[in-house]
Amino acid sequence: MIEYKGLYIIYLISAIFFILAIKGLASPKTARRGNDFGIFGMALAVLATLLVLPTRNDLGILLAGGMAAALGTFMANKVKLTNLPQMIAFLNGVGGLSSVLIGMAQILRQMTYSLDAIIGVVIGCIAFSGSIVAFFKLQGVKINRFPLMNFLNAVLFLAVWVHFALYHKMQDAYLLLAATFLFGISITLPVGGADMPIVISVLNAFSGFAASGIGFSLSNVALIITGALVGASGTILAVVMTKAMNRSVIEVFFKAVKTSATNGAAGKVAHAGSVEDAAFLMQNANRVIIVPGYGMAAAGAQHALKSMASLLEDKYHVEVKFAIHPVAGRMPGHMNVLLAEAKVDYDKVFSLEEINPDFETADVAYVIGANDITNPLAKTDPSSPLYGMPILEVSKAKTVFFVKRSLGAGYSGVDNPLFFADNTLMLYGDAKTVTQEIISML
Ligand code: NDP
Repeated sequence: MIEYKGLYIIYLISAIFFILAIKGLASPKTARRGNDFGIFGMALAVLATLLVLPTRNDLGILLAGGMAAALGTFMANKVKLTNLPQMIAFLNGVGGLSSVLIGMAQILRQMTYSLDAIIGVVIGCIAFSGSIVAFFKLQGVKINRFPLMNFLNAVLFLAVWVHFALYHKMQDAYLLLAATFLFGISITLPVGGADMPIVISVLNAFSGFAASGIGFSLSNVALIITGALVGASGTILAVVMTKAMNRSVIEVFFKAVKTSATNGAAGKVAHAGSVEDAAFLMQNANRVIIVPGYGMAAAGAQHALKSMASLLEDKYHVEVKFAIHPVAGRMPGHMNVLLAEAKVDYDKVFSLEEINPDFETADVAYVIGANDITNPLAKTDPSSPLYGMPILEVSKAKTVFFVKRSLGAGYSGVDNPLFFADNTLMLYGDAKTVTQEIISML
């Protein structure tokens, strides 16, 4: 395979397109083009690989590839925007699983111990089983672990790994697979609260490094490069996320989970506002900052939000900005994707560091379907799973509207004392409906 010089060149061209794809995806303005580059690079790599396969089973390959492509297209078309994070976890897991299957086939075919294949299998298996847990957690399923689970599984995993490395017994390969599968589950299970974005990025990096390991064992340059690119960019994303959350990866995976938090709201009464109040205050404001969160995605309120912002700007000359917390929603970049879809001007979208100083001079903070990313307990309560995470300082605005259906907690399960603050007005209801009602008032 690898001796074909032409193949190297085509793989190199694919790799260049993958790099351009990642560069493009770094900004909403160029993301679509980046995606196209990625598709082209992948098509090129697949085609080149098919053309130089030494043993040919064209029908089998075409059937399998065709079915997979049809399934992928069907899923991508059918998936609701709100379920996109779960789909990403699923695809991550499938990437890990494919490395496991190829690596195991390689080990069993050669009946020898091959370090690069084993590394691919182990990392891929952790990415696979971890992603299964991530999928269910993103689906909202509450999963618990039993005490010492991490410890026991780590011991089991290390014991099998050492035995396999020392004695190279083929039957250990299956044991290693089982132990790794359990290990992937046990390190992902305890992660909760607000730390899931970090887990998703780490699993993403793992699926890339697994593919790279398999690439080495197959001497496939395209897999090595692509896997390394995915692994490196996933690692960078994980670093960005840990910084954004003010955590370390070790803390996220291995520190005791904080499940309970003080309810800063006990005995207090939240003030309910009306859409009339919201329309009146916003049309008479100089500055409004919109803070979208997961509930905006769940309600599909981005287009209504864009219409409301345009109306405030064009009819009432209000300065409107959008504030994006790095972990808002359920996947990295979730809010940016939705706002871009609704054609919100990129220049009006600001990151946490950029926008936080502006809340002091804002007349209204319109917090729509967001909760954890504004929770002040992240700053004040060390027993909270949110503790340490920087928040959007919405409480500094003159008036804060929270658009949500109840006083219920967000993803971390922590109550938000801000609902009971003197300058907060709750707008109860579905994010899209409430925003549309405000538009009709405006
Ligand atoms: P939260 O999950 O904290 O809060 C969302 C709020 O939206 C809920 O409190 C809910 O309240 C409200 N809501 C739900 N549906 C609707 C609706 N149809 N209309 C109006 N409101 C609605 O979201 P945030 O974006 O503030 O924070 C994200 C959280 O998710 C963080 O804890 C983050 O760590 C975590 N996470 C983030 C990931 C990422 O990569 N970005 C990945 C995984 C987890 P109510 O039920 O009262 O309506």
